[in-house]
Amino acid sequence: MKLYNTHTGQKEAFIPIEPGKVKLYVCGPTVYDFIHVGNARPTILFDVLRRYLEYRGYDVTFVQNFTDVDDKIIDRANREGSTMAEISERFIAEYYTDAEGLGVQKATFHPKATEQMDGIIAAVQTLIDKGFAYEVHGDVYFRTAKFEPYGNLSGQQLDDLLAGARVDVNSGKESPMDFALWKSAKPGEPSWPSPWGDGRPGWHIECSVMVNRYLGKTIDIHAGGQDLTFPHHENEVAQSEALNDCKFANYWMHNGFLSIDNKKMSKSLGNFFTVRDAAAAYGYDTIRMFMLMSHYRSPLNYSGEILMQAKAGLERLYTAVENLEFLAKNAEHTALAEEEQTILDGLAQYKDRFIQVMDDDFNTADGVAVIFELVREVNSATAADKTPSKPFAEGCLAAIRELADVLGLLYAYGGEEVCLDTKVEGLIAARQQARTDKNWAEADRIRDELKDMGVLLEDTPQGVKWRQV
Ligand code: AMP
Ligand code: ZN
Repeated sequence: MKLYNTHTGQKEAFIPIEPGKVKLYVCGPTVYDFIHVGNARPTILFDVLRRYLEYRGYDVTFVQNFTDVDDKIIDRANREGSTMAEISERFIAEYYTDAEGLGVQKATFHPKATEQMDGIIAAVQTLIDKGFAYEVHGDVYFRTAKFEPYGNLSGQQLDDLLAGARVDVNSGKESPMDFALWKSAKPGEPSWPSPWGDGRPGWHIECSVMVNRYLGKTIDIHAGGQDLTFPHHENEVAQSEALNDCKFANYWMHNGFLSIDNKKMSKSLGNFFTVRDAAAAYGYDTIRMFMLMSHYRSPLNYSGEILMQAKAGLERLYTAVENLEFLAKNAEHTALAEEEQTILDGLAQYKDRFIQVMDDDFNTADGVAVIFELVREVNSATAADKTPSKPFAEGCLAAIRELADVLGLLYAYGGEEVCLDTKVEGLIAARQQARTDKNWAEADRIRDELKDMGVLLEDTPQGVKWRQV
């Protein structure tokens, strides 16, 4: 398996620290509002990364944080006459609603920054003790000049960064690149006691502390959106490596931006759609499909047209699964025909190709394409002029399900409810056939099956009528 590593700018063979195990950390949302469709991109992609690693047999420990102390949360609380805790609890709940809607599984741990104060204060103190940080009037800054590899992750030289940085004469910082580890409390703001007075953590330190606490000093994969590479991830590397004297993360994965009219979708530009609104228009499952149809590192443009393509694709997949489920239950032939066996044997190649493309830097776009080729082949093998057998339908269904589940594409598939009419009409026709064949036992069995589905039959002179109870 190969992954593109932002740190080296190359695709590299993935070798976990411990065989069979993956430690994965993804920076999560700052919880001051509903998430927008841009935020949904890493949420969905790294959920699929986790599923794929598990599919390949790895035991994955996946940590994603909630930043629940931040200026934006405090501003909103002040505007609404609320508290930071109330605002963040509310939007954590809204995040879970959207994540669940999108078919995103919960991480192994979802720590919150406010629960990490002891660890954060201890880490900041250690950085001061080691000479990597200094205090100025209750604020604590990281001394970037002391961390020699600063800039390596994002491919920048400290000198160049300094040349472009604005000097804030009032901050008391030794260098404009130094960043806050701890901020002294301003009146009316939530704060925690610390050796440097009451205050709250800077943004970056929480991730370093959570990685240490839940995953250890060195992790396998650290991920997030491209905009986090600098300064957030660069600062995480500096803090963690200065603290632990060892490498922080072996592989850095960053997703490309979701844009509208070639501009990054973001709250600050005001060009965003919330996931909630987009889901109301297209369905949560469509948003998931839309994200997986392109490569995670490519830019992706949000457009109604592409979303409708995603929706149509998903419906094709649902229909194929629904047909196969119907055949698997109701097909008359129970023995596999020879040519069916040949097709089933060939299905394994789809799985091999799926693994091949996903192993090549997690190419979900090609993974989706492989699933659709498989669907096409299965559709033509089970077309109306064919008489597929039960085991054949079962085999095809299992093959499609296996791959689609890795991408989490069937989580919203409603199965029988999706198209009750088609299913019921099909069963009624099968029952009529059984009666014509004087196969009373089969006819009764089908009647019972319909009854279990809550469908009652009524034989009338005009034919069979049905109603749902
Ligand atoms: P935030 O709450 O702004 O820290 O963002 C949460 C996650 O969404 C981070 O991983 C960001 O990099 C990512 N993100 C934000 N906007 C976009 C976008 N337009 N396209 C892709 N990812 C984004
Ligand atoms: Zn982070």
